[in-house]
Amino acid sequence: MQAPVLVLNANFEPIHVCDTRRAIGLILSEKASLVLDGRGHLKTVTRIYPLPSVIRLEKMVSRPRLHLKLTRREVFRRDSYTCQYCRRHTMELTIDHVVPRHLGGQHIWTNVVAACSQCNHRKGGRHLEEAGMRLQRQPKEPPSSAFYIFGRHLPENADWEPFLTGW
Ligand SMILES: [Zn+2]
Repeated sequence: MQAPVLVLNANFEPIHVCDTRRAIGLILSEKASLVLDGRGHLKTVTRIYPLPSVIRLEKMVSRPRLHLKLTRREVFRRDSYTCQYCRRHTMELTIDHVVPRHLGGQHIWTNVVAACSQCNHRKGGRHLEEAGMRLQRQPKEPPSSAFYIFGRHLPENADWEPFLTGW
């Protein structure tokens, strides 16, 4: 019941991810309809319900522009799980503040990069020039498209892809 379910607006725009329990609640209260299932069934005493993978809201809701929260996981994903100093591809990454926080660097997309622990250690809380290090590329804010934002679920939910494409 914890599995993520993709929620589409009435116009099919992907706007949200909720868990299965919430999705079934929305369907039963007729606030949403089932678009895609294929995850088996939920059996209650009196009925059997298909487990949703994608649902669509019956009424259009207006949403603010999608915005990706800055988290460790999202920084690593943006940087393709690659150290931005030595290009090593590793799952053991740390967050490096390009301008160190104690020197006034902010915790914002354009000042954080994925770094392996060796490079992070080597940089040692200094400016890049002082440490004699270079970034492989300048860090940017990731795309705000629904495809990118919900794309982190695609490895486990490949059936969402047609609903994310084009947004
Ligand atoms: Zn490195």
